[in-house]
Amino acid sequence: MICAIDSTHDPNLRSWVKSANQTDTDFPIQNLPFGVFQARGHAETPRIGVAIGDQILDLTACQQIGLLQELPESLKAACCASTLNPLMAMGRTASLSLRHHLSQLLRAEQAPPADGTILVSMSEAQLLLPATIGDYTDFYASIFHATNVGKLFRPDNPLLPNYKYVPIAYHGRASSIVPSGTPIKRPYGQQKQPKDSAPTFAPSQMLDYELEVGCFVGMGNELGDPIALDQSEDHLFGLCLVNDWSARDIQAWEYQPLGPFLSKSFATTISPWVVTLEALAPFRGSAFVRAVDDPPTLPYLMSSTNQHFGGIQLTLEVSLSSARMRQEKIAPLHLSRSEFQQMYWTVAQMLTHHTSNGCNLRPGDLFASGTISGSEAGTQGCLLELTQRGTQPLVLPTGEVRSFLVEGDEVTLRGYCEREGYIRIGIGKCQGIVDIRGQQRA
Ligand code: MN
Repeated sequence: MICAIDSTHDPNLRSWVKSANQTDTDFPIQNLPFGVFQARGHAETPRIGVAIGDQILDLTACQQIGLLQELPESLKAACCASTLNPLMAMGRTASLSLRHHLSQLLRAEQAPPADGTILVSMSEAQLLLPATIGDYTDFYASIFHATNVGKLFRPDNPLLPNYKYVPIAYHGRASSIVPSGTPIKRPYGQQKQPKDSAPTFAPSQMLDYELEVGCFVGMGNELGDPIALDQSEDHLFGLCLVNDWSARDIQAWEYQPLGPFLSKSFATTISPWVVTLEALAPFRGSAFVRAVDDPPTLPYLMSSTNQHFGGIQLTLEVSLSSARMRQEKIAPLHLSRSEFQQMYWTVAQMLTHHTSNGCNLRPGDLFASGTISGSEAGTQGCLLELTQRGTQPLVLPTGEVRSFLVEGDEVTLRGYCEREGYIRIGIGKCQGIVDIRGQQRA
C-alpha cells in the first residue's frame, strides 16, 4: 500500500519550535524524521529523536514527562530504545500512529511543555547510525548510471542484456556503514594498470563517491515468504542518503566475475535522519516511464499501483569542498543534481525482487538504490562519470583539479522533496571527508 496524504501534511501546520517554520528548513513539522543521537560530551545511552527545525525532540524525555502516555505500551517502549529497530519492526500502523501523535505534540497551538528538556539542539548532539544494520545490499537501479559506466568499459555494448529484466544488486558490507561526518581512510588494494603485466598492492588512486538513496526495511518477512509488489511498501520504514565510497582502480581489477568486494567495503556513509514513507506521501508519482521498445517487465515486478505511484519526487545534489577551499572560505562546489524518480526500478520493485527467492529481510536492514544519475550533463552521481574515468578533470574554484578525490576533500550529499501546494521537506545531509592522515598500511 502507498501511504496516504493526511492532516499531518497540511501545509498550514506550524510548530512551536520556531526554526521548524522557516521555509528553507529540511525538517518542518510535516517531515518528522527519526534518528538516534547522543548529547555531545555525554557518555549516556543513545536515544531516539525526531528532527524538528534545528532541534531534536528527545522521545525518551517525552516519555519521562508523560507526553507519550496515550500510546500503546509496546510503541512507548520502542520510542525509548537505543536504536530504531524495534520501531521499524512494528510496521506501518505503528509508525503512522506515532507520526500523528508527534504532529499534535509539536503544533503551534499546543503550549510547549514548561520543562524545556525535551529538546536538544542539533548543534550539541552527535548523530549516530539510526539502526543496527544486519544486512546491506546495494542496487544498480539507474539506467543512466549503468549506461554511462558501461560506455566507459564497453563502448559498443554499454548495457548488459539482463539490465531491463533484473534489478541488479550486490551484497554489501553492513559492518563498515558509518554515520555522516566520519572521516574516510583511503583504502589500499590490488590494482592493475593496462600497461602492467601484474597487479600491485598500493593506495587507491581513484577514490570516488556515489550518490545514492538508502531504504530501511521496517517489518521483516519470514525466510521462504516472498513479499508481493503491492505489499512491498508495508515493509519499508523510510529513506536516508547513502554515499557508497568506491575505489575505482581496485574495483576494475576485482569485479569480475562476482562483483564489487574490497573496492566498496572499506566504508559507506549514511545520513542520520530516516524520512518515513508517511512523510513522503505528498511526493509520490509515477514510476520511470520506460522506452516503448523496452521489454515487458515480468509479472512479479509489475502492478498498476507501482506504475502510477511507485516513484518518489526526490531531488538529490552533490557538492565538494577541498581543504584549501575551506581554508580560503570558498563555498562548496556544486557537482550534480539528479532525480530519484528517474530510476529504472522503484523502491518497491527492489524490495520485492530482493525477497522473490524467499530471502528474508529484517527490521533495520538497509538497501541502497545505486548511483543516481540522469541522462544530461550535470546529473552524473559520481566522479567516474563526471570526469569520464578521470580523463576530463574538474577544476575547483581554487584552480585545483580533480579526477578523483584527494585527502581533505569533503563530499556532501543532500536530498529534498518539493511540490506545489505542499511544504518542502529534506532528508538532511550525508557528509564525509577523505582522512588527511591517509591509510596506515598493516
Ligand atoms: Mn553503489
